[in-house]
Amino acid sequence: MMHGSKKLRVLTVAVGATSLLGSAAASAQADGAHGHRGHGTHAKNVILFIGDGMGDSEITIARNYLKGANGRLAMDSLPMTGAYTTYSVDKDGTINYVTDSAASGTGWATGTKTYNGAISVDRNDRDLPTILELAQRRGFVTGDVTTAELTDATPAVLASHVAERGCQGPANMASCPQDAKENGGPGSIAEQLLDHGVDVLLGGGQGRFAQTVTGGKYAGRTVSQQASAQGYTLVDDAQGLAAATAKQKVLGLFSAGTMPTRWTGPTAQPYTADDAANTTADGTECQPGNAPSGQPSLTQMTSKALSLLDTKAKAAKGKRGFFLQVEGASIDKQDHASNPCAQIGETADFDSAIAEGLRYAKQHPDTLVVVTADHAHTSQIVEYPQDAGHHSPGTFQTLRTADGAPMVISYATVTAGKSQDHTGSEVRIAAKGPQSQRVLGVTNQTDLFRTMAIALGLK
Ligand SMILES: [Zn+2]
Repeated sequence: MMHGSKKLRVLTVAVGATSLLGSAAASAQADGAHGHRGHGTHAKNVILFIGDGMGDSEITIARNYLKGANGRLAMDSLPMTGAYTTYSVDKDGTINYVTDSAASGTGWATGTKTYNGAISVDRNDRDLPTILELAQRRGFVTGDVTTAELTDATPAVLASHVAERGCQGPANMASCPQDAKENGGPGSIAEQLLDHGVDVLLGGGQGRFAQTVTGGKYAGRTVSQQASAQGYTLVDDAQGLAAATAKQKVLGLFSAGTMPTRWTGPTAQPYTADDAANTTADGTECQPGNAPSGQPSLTQMTSKALSLLDTKAKAAKGKRGFFLQVEGASIDKQDHASNPCAQIGETADFDSAIAEGLRYAKQHPDTLVVVTADHAHTSQIVEYPQDAGHHSPGTFQTLRTADGAPMVISYATVTAGKSQDHTGSEVRIAAKGPQSQRVLGVTNQTDLFRTMAIALGLK
């Protein structure tokens, strides 16, 4: 492999010729120079942001609504931006152009393509070492944060290995009995997250942790009781989270299942002659403020996770920092539900969480920040429907954006009223910090694993 700084110089010359990319090149030079003097080309910390289902379309919809067509989101400010492909592979090796979060997560977490539904196992169901496990082995502290259940696919791929993503708690093991503890397996996803000793676990999914463990050392206790026995502080609201200290590992479970969306608004509807279901041509506005009080936002969870991990890494007195994954999960879930306002509200919270990460990285430039998605999704910005013979064949809703203009959003990958499907387009990957130049151009989702591993000095 070429020495990092040498490669960086070549890159700077290559992109320096294009004036539009001048600032990106200058930033690369700055990051590289800092890294060279301080810590080689390695990152002390990696913060990975996964916008579930956040394709270019979802980013553009959120930007138009929140900031206007000429505005910019925090995620738009990362200097290195490329695209990556997200396909999965079936068990027989056939390419599957439309991935789910489990296969795509396994791709970026382990560097290996697998089948939809697989949690960090290959297509022959062999365990794959994950970036979090490798970082842990080298002395990094670790965190995993989501607005979904902590046992959902994206947080799961970092610290568990099961053949089927549904095997989330000890009572959910019907489709992967071989993984159950009483059968000599590693246990459900919930049990494995704890057995991995991840330092900070924040998200939804109390229901899974209230289930009773059926095998092994903690049989007969709930998964939450197992967590206490393994040295976790348990918190269940914003106040408890704020009070948590880095002296113990922290398990924050803030809702029974997926955390509620922060915004509401009208769902997309099929075309009607008078268009009453989709509001007037001016468009409607979303209603923020839907989140239950006392429940932390993704931004608050991210901020606290950064502070806990930073303190813990310093207390360890080693040279190692931390690895943190933060997932904005319900961008995907509200895309499935054809709910543009809830989708935008979740993208807004995710974007503020990214701003927290960038603030940390500004104070700690030896931090690699990566912002990407796991797969593309349904929502599209389309023209206003003309008449009964010319309109979206699915559903649509018209929103009034920050520009004061109407934006028509269509959901049409599946029959109206049904859960919409993921799509197979490539998605954005953007980065800042050591090794961030590796995301430029068109790469594969599995390359992100190598980028993070190289940045952390694991390879
Ligand atoms: Zn999905």
